[in-house]
Amino acid sequence: TYVVNDKCIKCKYTDCVEVCPVDCFYEGENMLVIHPDECIDCGVCEPECPADAIKPDTEPGMERWLELNRQYSESW
Ligand code: SF4
Repeated sequence: TYVVNDKCIKCKYTDCVEVCPVDCFYEGENMLVIHPDECIDCGVCEPECPADAIKPDTEPGMERWLELNRQYSESW
């Protein structure tokens, strides 16, 4: 799954939301998040993010963001 990190905070450009084929972006407290169970790992959103805030959860340092993405996206 892809995950949004803190570079998104206060950014909220929605370029990523527009390209996602499965609509799995949700609005967190001060950033957007991806629902890890809904993301189909297509990777389309990554290059669209102007803040470079979207990465695969397999990248170093992204594990902790995975939990937060899940938490925020499930509070809807
Ligand atoms: Fe949506 Fe694809 Fe990005 Fe997952 S990788 S959030 S499915 S655009």
